[in-house]
Amino acid sequence: MSSIDLRDLQLQDMAALLESEGEPRFRARQMCQWLYKHQVFDPEQMTNLPEPLRQRLQATCHIGALTVLRHQQSDDGTEKTLFGLADGNQVETVLIPAEERRTLCVSTQVGCAIGCRFCLTAQGGLVRSLRPSEIVGQVLYFQTPGKAPDRAFTNIVFMGMGEPLDNFNGTVQAIRIITAEWGLGISPRRITVSTSGLVRRLEAFGREDLKVNLAISLNATTDAVRTEIMPINKAFPIDKLLQACREFPLPARRRITFEYVMLRDVNDTPEDAARLVRLLRGIRSKINLLPFNEIPGSPYRRPLDETVTRFQEYLLQHGLAAFVRQSRGRDISAACGQLRYESRPESELTPLLT
Ligand code: SAH
Ligand code: SF4
Repeated sequence: MSSIDLRDLQLQDMAALLESEGEPRFRARQMCQWLYKHQVFDPEQMTNLPEPLRQRLQATCHIGALTVLRHQQSDDGTEKTLFGLADGNQVETVLIPAEERRTLCVSTQVGCAIGCRFCLTAQGGLVRSLRPSEIVGQVLYFQTPGKAPDRAFTNIVFMGMGEPLDNFNGTVQAIRIITAEWGLGISPRRITVSTSGLVRRLEAFGREDLKVNLAISLNATTDAVRTEIMPINKAFPIDKLLQACREFPLPARRRITFEYVMLRDVNDTPEDAARLVRLLRGIRSKINLLPFNEIPGSPYRRPLDETVTRFQEYLLQHGLAAFVRQSRGRDISAACGQLRYESRPESELTPLLT
């Protein structure tokens, strides 16, 4: 396969590439129109480019497309799409319709290296990070050319397979393409990146100034419990994580979302609720309580509904905006923590990227 995927490039990189070929820089914008507005995969069809350039592009570049391997629809309307990547790996993307929103949940990695003990994606480890084009490709698939950009979905959350900040470059470059006016033109206000809390990467992410929303998978109120369920907490304990949240350059009037997977008798006690209120003091926040979706091989259980309600009520009474997120698409394994790559023989998997 030829080397460069045009959809991995930022506008300025494309312009530089064209310039080095003796072409005017403005052709980069013409190419982006084809790539993102018309979703054209074949340089031959880019009819406003000169024929010799089309031929050179054909020879030196390619435009990767994701292959749809399977499409499943849940009884509650949630849709899960399994995409095949060029190297044979696979990722899943979930579209979750609610009354006034349609949320697209994209993956950033094949598998995940973080190893949270309540998450199915963790079980196979990390296979590899996705390239920007492979993240953007998931979004493009749900955008029909010629339609208003927000018809198919209203919001994008980076909450599928993988840890977005462990694929820092892929995630940042993809967000730039998704939000750029020459790219997909989607407002960063409609995008949320969720992280397990890689603190140094979080600081670097803030410096990228992408103006997207931030979600933190907090999931516990003591270091002992958090380290047990999320081993990453050893490297980045709660106080360091929350300090980074306090310092995160949040756009005006926005709040950080804290996700809290509720595990029966592990982190769902009244003491946890009280500690959570103390921990989040002074942070512009909202809390999403996620009652655990039970997964095979996990020692944890879902709390009783009344435990979840009591926990939420305590937070509300103490001035925190707390929501319970009922899981969607459980019948097709599309709910939080239920995404995994298809298990295939080791020999077929690509080597780990470092
Ligand atoms: N890696 C990122 C984003 C993907 S996970 C992160 O961890 O933030 C998206 C959310 O699903 C996280 O908040 C995670 O805590 C939650 N989650 C994972 N497994 C779950 C499960 N079995 N039940 C409920 N929520 C789960
Ligand atoms: Fe990775 Fe997020 Fe799952 Fe943890 S919860 S293993 S960080 S995908």
